[in-house]
Amino acid sequence: MNNSKDNRIKRLKKKRIWPSIVGLFVIATLFSLTLALLVIINLQDMVKRKILTSINQATPIVNEFEDYEANKENVQESVMTYLDMVPDTKAVWVSDLEGNEVWAFGDKVPEIKNVTEVYFLDDDSVEIIIDEEMSQMSIDENGNITLDEDSFSETDFEAIAESGFYGSESLLKVGMWNFQEIGNLKVYVLQEVTVFAQDCFMMIIAIVLFSLMMAIFIIYYLISFISVIVNVRRTSKVLYTDVITGGNNWLYFEKKGNKLLKSKLNTRNYAVLHLKMRKYRSFCTCFGVSEGEALVEKLYHVMKKQVNRSELMVYKDNATFGLLLTYSDEEQLRNRIETLMVLLDEVLPKMKLYFAAGVYKVNKKDRDIDQLYNNAVLACDMLGEEAENKIIFYDIEMNKRRLWERKVEDDMDAALANHEFQVYLQPKISTNKEVLAGAEALVRWIHPTEGFIPPNRFIPIFERNGFILKLDDYMLEEIAKQQAQWIEQGRKVVPISVNVSRAHFAKEDLAEHICSIVNKYRVPHNVIELELTESAFFDDKEVLLNTVRKLRDAGFVVSMDDFGAGYSSLNSLKELKLDVLKLDADFFRGVETQERGMLIVSEVIDLAKKLDMKIVAEGIESREQVDFLTEQECDLIQGYFYAKPMPINEFEEKYGIGD
Ligand code: C2E
Ligand code: CA
Ligand code: CA
Repeated sequence: MNNSKDNRIKRLKKKRIWPSIVGLFVIATLFSLTLALLVIINLQDMVKRKILTSINQATPIVNEFEDYEANKENVQESVMTYLDMVPDTKAVWVSDLEGNEVWAFGDKVPEIKNVTEVYFLDDDSVEIIIDEEMSQMSIDENGNITLDEDSFSETDFEAIAESGFYGSESLLKVGMWNFQEIGNLKVYVLQEVTVFAQDCFMMIIAIVLFSLMMAIFIIYYLISFISVIVNVRRTSKVLYTDVITGGNNWLYFEKKGNKLLKSKLNTRNYAVLHLKMRKYRSFCTCFGVSEGEALVEKLYHVMKKQVNRSELMVYKDNATFGLLLTYSDEEQLRNRIETLMVLLDEVLPKMKLYFAAGVYKVNKKDRDIDQLYNNAVLACDMLGEEAENKIIFYDIEMNKRRLWERKVEDDMDAALANHEFQVYLQPKISTNKEVLAGAEALVRWIHPTEGFIPPNRFIPIFERNGFILKLDDYMLEEIAKQQAQWIEQGRKVVPISVNVSRAHFAKEDLAEHICSIVNKYRVPHNVIELELTESAFFDDKEVLLNTVRKLRDAGFVVSMDDFGAGYSSLNSLKELKLDVLKLDADFFRGVETQERGMLIVSEVIDLAKKLDMKIVAEGIESREQVDFLTEQECDLIQGYFYAKPMPINEFEEKYGIGD
């Protein structure tokens, strides 16, 4: 997959996730900080106020001990009464100046320190710092409690505090000793400072409201976060789904394929396949695009069942499928693909479906599935349109062929305009007198940079891209022009044949078209012979028969080229009435099969004679062949034995046409 495409997909999928995550994080942090701040400020404030109150409560108790020596019983009684009234006071401890206990209520003995500042610490403890000079407590804006000398000059409070959370009914309890020297006694009063939940009612309401608000925010963000994830998944699904088959699409193939190649190539053999249904466009033209798509869907599901979990298969376009298959050896892979094609053909029981597959066997270092698939496509393109070819494996030569093909296609129009295509003539010699009796026009391309190019290097390409129509017209015109010239010069001419490619027979007005070209030069039709190949029978037979009939009626000689090669069948002779049968050179190749070949040749000649056809033997290279054919009463011979195809002027010279 190319980088920008990859990035675009990533961007599409990742959209809006980060803002949500960041938003959620920021809000959660802000919320926690604010809440913590609120709690700290409020609790500090609350505890400070409670401590002040407790100090105030302790002062009257301490004052009771002013007359203790004189009136012990009464003092104790009134202190106890006081203690009943003030439940926060938990203990009282009185000692002489040496520290010996004089009277005690409660069981705690205080340590004595001078308090200067009170700090509220994170670990829920209260730290109190002592200073002998202080006398009054005040709270500054930082929350520090200080004892000031002026206001409480007679009463120095000293305290020791313990802190901690005890029980659930209160939020906080702090035990605090208040100390005062009175007369020759030291009086310690333990006050318990308790902060109850109800004391913080407003704060709790605020916290609850604040939490609620934050919870709504967080839920909102969570929902939007989840919906983004759901959307991303949905986007992925849409992104990777093919609308025609409902299965995975090409993008998925690229992504998953590259992953598979990366991770599994060391453990398995993989092959990339380009599998196509032939003539899908014709199918759509006949039955409509929606029928075509329905067929594709069926094909997809049949294939899907044949593909296992470590393999991939997607629909691409125009009835082509991309596959990534595992295999053990080439034979097994070929069999598997053939079986698959049989299954696919069964999808429409009433119609024969043809398939073709280009196969690329993946190498250990291959990574980019796009490139590999292109190789499979390239291989498949090399198959051509013939139905009998089904499976082709990629080889490196194909790339060179593709480059050549591109060059040919780039140059062909200019070549035609610049007369780079030249007519060569190969003589046809009669067997009885061994004299010139005809010729075949064969094209040669004299390329400005490539030089001499033989037809087999460009004719197949032109047949695929349709340029052959223009080239054949050009050749016909050149021959008509040449014959006209020779006739005008009063020379004797022999029939010259031109090749009429199969592609022409798709046109219903082919006969009229040929007539119009030849008539331009006022050439009698019987000096032009038209060679057509049997493969034209695979197309519309009616059109072919009609065209041939019209051409023969117009006086042209029509011959069947390459008889005996490829799909040759005697059947075609039965239906098609022709003037000439050209025996393919293949009959005369291969020494081992020669005897059988000759037997067939003599039978075919016999048959053709009965059908009132002339026989031309092609590709004849030896005297023995000539003798044999003469014996069999073959009419004409075309082959290197007499001459190779040659430029027109050479032909004129050699055969002294018309002299
Ligand atoms: P084809 O129509 O069967 O032409 C006969 C081919 O056999 C020619 O090849 C000719 O040079 C070759 N040949 C003739 N005698 C011998 C022989 O004794 N030994 C050997 N080894 N070969 C022999 P060429 O000229 O290379 O043409 C190849 C094919 O290209 C032709 O086969 C024909 O199908 C096609 N072609 C050539 N010119 C044209 C054209 O103008 N239009 C079309 N449509 N096809 C053409
Ligand atoms: Ca020919
Ligand atoms: Ca031929």
